[in-house]
Amino acid sequence: MRKPISAAVCAGLLALSIGVSHASLLMKPTYNADLDYQSQMLSGNYNKSLTHPDEILGFPIGQRVATPAQINQSIQTWQTQTDRLHVLEYARSHEGRPLHAVFISSPANLAKMDDILAKLNALSDPRKTSDAQASVIIDELPAIAWMAYSIHGNETSGSDAALTSIYHYAASDDPKVKAMLEDMIIVIDPIMNPDGRDRFAKSLEQYRGTAPNVDDQSLLHRGDWPYGRTNHYFFDLNRDFFYLTQPETKGRVSLINKWRPQLMIDGHEMGPQDTYLMGPPRQPLNFNIASSVQKWAKTFSVDQGAAFDEKGWRYYTGEWFENWYPGYSNYAEYRGSMHILYEQSRMAEDGVRRPEGTIQTYKESVHHQFVSTMANLESLQKYSKDMYKDYWRDRKSVLEKDSPYANKTYVVLANNNHTRMNTLVEKLQAQDIEVYVADEKFKAKDATDHLGKTQTTTVPKGSLIIPNRQPEARLLSAIMEFDAQILPETVQEERQKLLREGQSIMYDTSAWNLTMMYGLEALTLPTNVTDDISLYSASDKTQVDASSDSIAWAVNGDDDASVAFAARLMERGVQVRVIDKATQLGDETLVRGSVIVTITDNVNNANLVALINETAVETSLSIQNIKTGYGTGDTPEWGGDHFKLLTQPQIGIISQAGTSSNDVGVTWWSLDTHLGIRHSQLDSSAIARTDLRRYNVLIMPSAWSVSDATADAVKSWVEQGGTLITHENSTQAIASKDFSKVKLVDDILEDAEKYDIALQRRLLAREPLEEVNDYFAMTVQEDVAYPWDDAPKRLSKEELEKRNTWQKLFMPAGAMVSGNVDTQHWLTFGTPETLPLLYGRQPVLVVPENAEAVVTVGVYSDKEKAKRSKDDDKDETKGIGWYSLPQDKKLHVRMSGLLWPEAAQRIANSAYLTRESMGNGQIIMFSGEPVFRGATLGTNRLLLNAIVFGPGMGTRSNIKL
Ligand SMILES: [Zn+2]
Repeated sequence: MRKPISAAVCAGLLALSIGVSHASLLMKPTYNADLDYQSQMLSGNYNKSLTHPDEILGFPIGQRVATPAQINQSIQTWQTQTDRLHVLEYARSHEGRPLHAVFISSPANLAKMDDILAKLNALSDPRKTSDAQASVIIDELPAIAWMAYSIHGNETSGSDAALTSIYHYAASDDPKVKAMLEDMIIVIDPIMNPDGRDRFAKSLEQYRGTAPNVDDQSLLHRGDWPYGRTNHYFFDLNRDFFYLTQPETKGRVSLINKWRPQLMIDGHEMGPQDTYLMGPPRQPLNFNIASSVQKWAKTFSVDQGAAFDEKGWRYYTGEWFENWYPGYSNYAEYRGSMHILYEQSRMAEDGVRRPEGTIQTYKESVHHQFVSTMANLESLQKYSKDMYKDYWRDRKSVLEKDSPYANKTYVVLANNNHTRMNTLVEKLQAQDIEVYVADEKFKAKDATDHLGKTQTTTVPKGSLIIPNRQPEARLLSAIMEFDAQILPETVQEERQKLLREGQSIMYDTSAWNLTMMYGLEALTLPTNVTDDISLYSASDKTQVDASSDSIAWAVNGDDDASVAFAARLMERGVQVRVIDKATQLGDETLVRGSVIVTITDNVNNANLVALINETAVETSLSIQNIKTGYGTGDTPEWGGDHFKLLTQPQIGIISQAGTSSNDVGVTWWSLDTHLGIRHSQLDSSAIARTDLRRYNVLIMPSAWSVSDATADAVKSWVEQGGTLITHENSTQAIASKDFSKVKLVDDILEDAEKYDIALQRRLLAREPLEEVNDYFAMTVQEDVAYPWDDAPKRLSKEELEKRNTWQKLFMPAGAMVSGNVDTQHWLTFGTPETLPLLYGRQPVLVVPENAEAVVTVGVYSDKEKAKRSKDDDKDETKGIGWYSLPQDKKLHVRMSGLLWPEAAQRIANSAYLTRESMGNGQIIMFSGEPVFRGATLGTNRLLLNAIVFGPGMGTRSNIKL
């Protein structure tokens, strides 16, 4: 048996080995007995041919945070020392660190992994497997567990427990462990976010002084901007499990989906003064999770609680832990895996002093995660066969005729945005969801659209058809259904909590479905569509090259990649134009937003055709070869004003302390993912001292505050010709400055009527005229209609202010609302008339006459005639807010998720995206974060347009002599 390292030595090691390098120059800390943790984690009999982790690490395991390099080194060492391990690298992080899945089982099981996979596959598709076959498979299959840790890089204890677990299961001589490995394959994913953990480990090194620190507010425990939680691009990997935007998630999901684990655990940490949370969650629970999965979660947690009781450790289940959003690691629950969340109170190293006066040491927190791991694996060994039986029953039930999924099909309407459609299909196929294409157009009865309108409609040929009746019905429904359900009692609890405490019981956004996030027009049909469809294949499209006998070359502006095409060609020195009105040049139809390169703009560029082709390949776009500049009919010609010359963007992103690292990261990621062009991140604290003339586009991601010095510097820069783009809280800051024409709703209530008239003017500008002859009367008319004639009695400023304050309480935590798009504006190239907007607690913008409301909240439709006459009988319609609703119109706001009526009233008719000129430059403001989680591809397009087309379209051009 290995000689245990005494607690006193541990404390000594802690102080000495961690100290900064010239320890002898520093004063030795005094001894703190509270930091000794007596209990041993690894106390069994272990095979001596495996090197003990303490030796590899150079400190007792669990004493300190092991770095990703140390964890990898341990795995590599053990891999060569036992036949119980099989190590698979499933991905590389952005910073090049490997992500490993460590399979631990008996050598016999590890030798037949392919056979096991084949059986798992058969058990997952009742269309191909009979009950008798399933029963044999269940008898033969080992249990499969997927144990994953520390997806948030600064929640470190999980990975140290993972390392402890790998050694324990790989080296234990205990007959019980050996028997377990005969029955089970344990897959350990020890560091789910190596880049974040490495960043946090560096900050631990940086803030380490001589004495141990037990103050959870210290920099040692908290780290600093951008913190260790997220990955390289500051993405929260635990929100990415169906958006699949990051390499870590993509590789991981592919492997999890292949192995279909029965048990999945996800080891996190929470507030430092908390205790320990283990599953199961409380309401709201997503309706698409099978009841058997929920039943098993309860059973496992009882066993886990008993293991903690035995040690005298405090814990709880439920409380704040709800399970409505399906994008956590628990996405696998919808595929039939039972999922358990661990949340250990967070401490970096050393320990944390608690209100009761004790210190919980880091090593104890690692021990909690290790004991949880062992308890869950023991439960799985007990219940595996019964769980497989439930799994099989449920796989069959979703395919049955009376299943809630049997008569439902999602349709994504055909369009020219191939890049975005392919992205959608790729995400669905990654989850084993079967996607088809309509071979012919067809009539669909009772089709429901994103606005909730149900009618008979024609589905065009080429639309995506996704019948819900398929083996992954539950996950498919969870990520595609337009409006996730919730229990009435949960709605009541939420509203009461808001009123009592101003707090929400929701932990995440309340809307997330992929077609709304992606801004793709979609329908839900109440039938199982099977006729005239064929499986989707990405390789259907043939690419057309640029030919040297053309006078101009264009790409389709509906495709998101057209923006990258323009940006990358400009970076290569090519002059590029964009068309702001659809045209027909010879045989080629060019939609609004199409990007065009003409030979005359690039007379001196000998490589022009080669550069166009190279860029087309990079962006997977087909070239439209143009032979004439003459517009068919009255469509625009190539020498007219609709062919706008672009200016190469030179981009700065304001970053660092005070900014939201999530929003900075996702903006940075979007540039690197969707455009791949050069840009700089700038230090937010030094903007006033930065030479901003190098940039013609400045992006201000959401920030907690914007200093006056920064605002002043940015204002003068815009006046000189810059394009300023602001998000969410930065928008709030800029909109509250005098120089911005766009205002916050809170600041205009005194002048409400003026802003309402501006709104009515914009709405009327889109209305068709009823009786054109009325406009040609020879005499002055007495009954000319003014937009305020039908307006309800205006509310007083006091009433508006009272309402505004009350309504603020009900602002959403992330609901989908309908965006009303100005389809003539250059910022909306590639965007449909109605764009779903993810809306949260963000600034509510109101636009005066001298600024542009590019996307506003709420889509109008005509009221039915009968209803209209009924309304007309009323003496007076009721005022709602600063705006008036035309009498014959309805305004649709909520599309999906929890949006209280008070909030809908507050945000209706406000602007999501605005543009205003200032001096030679412009300010473009998003009221929210346009690239939330890398998945709001609809609003992401607006940002790409702003960045790439902004300098050419919205500012005064500058001729270089
Ligand atoms: Zn976490």
